[in-house]
Amino acid sequence: MTEAIPVLVAGGGPVGLAVALEIAHQGIRSVVIEPREEVSWLRPRAKTTSARTMELFRRWGLAEQVRARAALPVGWSDRAVFTTGLLGREITHIDHCFGLDLTGDHRAAEPGQQIPQPAVEQVLRDTISGSPLVTLRTGWRVVDLTEDEHGVTAAVIDPHGQAQRIRAEFLVGADGATSTVRAAIGARYEGSADERPNYNIVFRSPGLADRVPHGPAVHYWVLHPTHPGMLGRLDLADTWWCIAQNLPQQAGDADPLGVVRGLVGADIPAEILATDPWKAKLLLADRYHSDRVFLAGDAAHLNPPWGGHGFNTGIGDAVNLGWKLAAVLRGWAPRSLLPSYQDERRPIAARTIAEAARNMSILAPELSDARLTGTDAEFAAVRARVAEAVHRDKSGEFHSLDLVLDYTYQGSPLVGARSGARLPHHWLGPGESLYDLLGPGFTLLGPAQHPLIGPFTDAAAEHRIPLHVVARSGHRLTLIRPDQHVAWTDTEPGTPREVLRRATGYPR
Ligand SMILES: Cc1cc2nc3c(=O)[nH]c(=O)nc-3n(C[C@H](O)[C@H](O)[C@H](O)COP(=O)(O)OP(=O)(O)OC[C@H]3O[C@@H](n4cnc5c(N)ncnc54)[C@H](O)[C@@H]3O)c2cc1C
Repeated sequence: MTEAIPVLVAGGGPVGLAVALEIAHQGIRSVVIEPREEVSWLRPRAKTTSARTMELFRRWGLAEQVRARAALPVGWSDRAVFTTGLLGREITHIDHCFGLDLTGDHRAAEPGQQIPQPAVEQVLRDTISGSPLVTLRTGWRVVDLTEDEHGVTAAVIDPHGQAQRIRAEFLVGADGATSTVRAAIGARYEGSADERPNYNIVFRSPGLADRVPHGPAVHYWVLHPTHPGMLGRLDLADTWWCIAQNLPQQAGDADPLGVVRGLVGADIPAEILATDPWKAKLLLADRYHSDRVFLAGDAAHLNPPWGGHGFNTGIGDAVNLGWKLAAVLRGWAPRSLLPSYQDERRPIAARTIAEAARNMSILAPELSDARLTGTDAEFAAVRARVAEAVHRDKSGEFHSLDLVLDYTYQGSPLVGARSGARLPHHWLGPGESLYDLLGPGFTLLGPAQHPLIGPFTDAAAEHRIPLHVVARSGHRLTLIRPDQHVAWTDTEPGTPREVLRRATGYPR
């Protein structure tokens, strides 16, 4: 028998789980199909959850939980140290990294958070297990799909190896870099790969942290001429991650402990917990959707991890796509809303890939200098020049709020000519964000007496568009989308009916 559901999500990594949560936030049911029974604790790829992703988690009521599960409290450090080895000589440091210092800042409702990707995935899985609107099926995998006028039929394999079929109105492919869904809709990645090898290691080394002379930091970049790379703590106990750069897989596999000791700069005792070789890719799908199937996250774009944007970009995809699919399924937007997902999100991915490529062009190997590991006099002679290069070439990687918070959908067919950016944030009182006042659907924010509030609520009622009115003086009349981006302000033309129809994708 073929089961029928509104949305099937292929892939329960962070992005697939986020798609399901956004759809549930809008009141629509989905099933997530995921092969992995457990999250991959020893493959902690992303560690940087951006301020914007944390704002989106706050919107789902999850920000506090995510912070509670993070082993490194947000106030612990916002520093990246550049050194000759974890126990070596400090060259310089960069502060205020990754928006970790934004607590209480007007620019954002949440600071960023360092937390390993599997810990985030576990919070999302736990939330889903308590939601009546999402079913997560682990041990299952999607193998093929067919699409027709009325829906999509996915061929899936259940945990017993049995073939099953699931029928859905829409299918989201959040099945990662090797996406089966991308291949099934005939979309292709375009771009290039960086051939330099990277080698990740997770290790445990009791007492190592006490020996680090540089103080707390979220990244320690090792600018060593023969052991370049980076390290960081996975918890405040003894577990660490590191990335060795320019290291072929065979060399890493042969002697992971030697690699760790090279980065640390001493023959420390360490237990190797896991290794994970990888190469950076710069790939963007030529299209993000067919008629009823949509790609999100790594299935749609792959960018080098420098700057920490990959999964964060995917969470932005999930929210943008999720509210739109739900709007169509709930009947308050036409199907013509859906192509705007690609119009809005693909340029953001292209920009993110370009920025990550810029970050990747100068890494630890390029910044290192043989004299850094020479005599004290040689180190002193070269230190200032290397430090200057670090600040010149790496500052943008650690300070990217323009990309993280200020990306805009300006130019999208859904928004006014001057709109599209994220609603400027401010605090209403201690811990009380302007964003906390917004509804799950559209929000109209402005002075209580504004003459257009009535016509907006009438037009919204006519089209059954959920519109929450927030009366606050000191704001221009502003129409805010479910994803907190501005659709229109009263500095722009359009009647309320025209503005709402455009924002929900009605053809002009
Ligand atoms: C070293 C490193 C560091 C990184 N650091 C950061 C960082 O700091 N910040 C950041 O934002 N990003 C970072 N990234 C990128 C981040 O890891 C990815 O962008 C992120 O995992 C993408 O999430 P996703 O859900 O789209 O894909 P994935 O995490 O790949 O999830 C895809 C899911 O689909 C499932 N799947 C596969 N095939 C099928 C199938 N046939 N049917 C159903 N399900 C299937 C898989 O099991 C998997 O769970 C880093 C990456 C690396 C390599």
